Amino acid sequence: MSWLYVISEDDIDDCYFLGITQKISGHSFTLMPQRLRKNGGISAAKKAFYRVQTQIKWMKQKVEDCFFVMAIDNDRAPAHPEHSRIPGLPPQDQKKECRFCELEREAMRNLGPRRTEWNIGGAIAIPVQMLESWLLLSLDSSLTDDTLPIFPDGCKQLKDLFRDFYNQSGLPSKKEFIEKCIDQTNIENLQSRSASFKQFVDQIYEWNLNPNQPIDPAYRS
Ligand SMILES: [Zn+2]
Repeated sequence: MSWLYVISEDDIDDCYFLGITQKISGHSFTLMPQRLRKNGGISAAKKAFYRVQTQIKWMKQKVEDCFFVMAIDNDRAPAHPEHSRIPGLPPQDQKKECRFCELEREAMRNLGPRRTEWNIGGAIAIPVQMLESWLLLSLDSSLTDDTLPIFPDGCKQLKDLFRDFYNQSGLPSKKEFIEKCIDQTNIENLQSRSASFKQFVDQIYEWNLNPNQPIDPAYRS
């Protein structure tokens, strides 16, 4: 049994990160959700990460079977690794620092400076600009990171565009729609159109997974 601690804002995020991690890794995991305070940002993520480590220490699970995904939206912070700022940002966004670097530093402070020596495999997910971006790119292969809207000036926002797709799907719940999005995601193709998704995938490829627990290879496409 492998365990996936997902640090995220809600159960829709949990559903996505469990499903997409299984698809990328070809392994099955039992979800261990760790809720973040809404809009709590980096400080909430750091606290949740500390709680996860404490839980792993006290649970009877073997540490080598435990993995974590720490997920928060980029929200117009400088994107890793270029760190260039989007021109024309309002003052509150101009002060933001790279969220990937900040969370990776925190993980390294706790688990050690070299990822290969961490006792818990982990991945930091900072979708640029938000999880809806990855979902939209999965649903429409003609889109790229650069063509998605950033500012709310008259045009539809990422959440609106995603809601349109959901409404058109006719599916009864958002969870089922998220599962359909994961099904539809071509991992290779999405990596080529989203640098932040590629960063997430690359970290999972480094995990030391128990080869005796793969899921159906047909699921990995
Ligand atoms: Zn960075």
